[in-house]
Amino acid sequence: MDLLTLFSANLLLLLIFAISFQAMSLRVTPSVHWRSWAAANGILVVALVCFAFENVLPKFFAYILPNTLLLLGFGFHFYAARVLARLPHRLSDAFAPAAAYLIVGLLAFVLSDATLAYVGGNFIFTVLCIATIFAYTSKNFHGLISVIGLVLAFFFIAAVGGLRVFHGLVGDGPAGPGMINDTMQGLHLMSAMLFVSLTGAFSTALSFEQVAQRHREAARRDPLTGAYNRREFQARLEDLLHVPSEKTFGLLNFDLDHFKFVNDNFGHLSGDQALVKIVTAVKAQLRKDDCFARLGGEEFAVLLPDISRENAAKVADRLRKAISRIEFDFAPETFRITASTGIYHGTGNELAMEDLLQAVDESLYRSKKNGRNCVTFAPAC
Ligand code: GH3
Ligand code: MG
Ligand code: MG
Repeated sequence: MDLLTLFSANLLLLLIFAISFQAMSLRVTPSVHWRSWAAANGILVVALVCFAFENVLPKFFAYILPNTLLLLGFGFHFYAARVLARLPHRLSDAFAPAAAYLIVGLLAFVLSDATLAYVGGNFIFTVLCIATIFAYTSKNFHGLISVIGLVLAFFFIAAVGGLRVFHGLVGDGPAGPGMINDTMQGLHLMSAMLFVSLTGAFSTALSFEQVAQRHREAARRDPLTGAYNRREFQARLEDLLHVPSEKTFGLLNFDLDHFKFVNDNFGHLSGDQALVKIVTAVKAQLRKDDCFARLGGEEFAVLLPDISRENAAKVADRLRKAISRIEFDFAPETFRITASTGIYHGTGNELAMEDLLQAVDESLYRSKKNGRNCVTFAPAC
């Protein structure tokens, strides 16, 4: 491809993605992430034009404009990555690399040292791309595939930047202070085109993957307490019952005692606060693989995979005690809530889910009849 075609293709791709990112910011959250991508592309369009016309720009602008704009564009990429990764971010992050280059560029202009501008600009560029890679390796992106494409794209463009630093230091010096106006224009434009297409496609895919992940997670959770919901609980229980296994598991079902009293005496909002506090206390007692769910109202279940009968009983009692120890500040005097628990322990083999749930529910109601605030095992079912 000749240089003009490569140059036009780059401009066109940047513009198309800038428009689509801007359009997405109207519908897809976080909108600031999309607006940053659109801003980055828009700025890079102007940067590219400045690089192409570096020869005809007055010397001062040739030293300052192209590299500052390039670093401002990539500064917005960096900022967008931190927004999407939910890492601490300030708008000044987007401007800092360009500001750093301004100092280098001014010095290079005063000294008429094109190599200083070229090497300095590319050095900041490479460091910025590496910092962006770090943002995309944040744990908030774990489990998302598209992030790999973005990491590779930024790695590629960082390597190109690193090569330019090397070229500026050991070569016969750049033709000008910018980055494109050297002997490898075609190669640079080609790598820019690859980078723009890869990041455009993968950033879109990543954001949609993240939205899908958020929706999936919301569909598994109870909105008030953040515990799993009945749907997730039943799916996990079904998984356990579906595969016959010699491993035993525990299933606890507990219902808060006299909870209506809380609503009637302290208000519904206090009741809600109590539910949240109880869920937090229970969660703190459980292992990572346990599934704690709010089945509805003030009734909860805990699935304890791969556990002995003795330990399941211990967990049930630990939860009972943890709940009864909580102090609620909505009551004028010390006020406590207790829970009554039913518990099943076994392999679950040959058992239908409905029978199992029924058996645990019956033992829960035996706990209620036996004076509440206690744990009752379901008979072998
Ligand atoms: P028992 O010891 O027999 O279980 O008595 P209880 O009062 O807890 O039982 P009951 O089923 O009669 O009442 C449950 C109460 O839980 C009634 C309802 O108002 C309250 N409740 C259920 N869901 C929520 C909720 O999301 N928020 C609040 N604040 N209250 C809830
Ligand atoms: Mg109750
Ligand atoms: Mg109830």
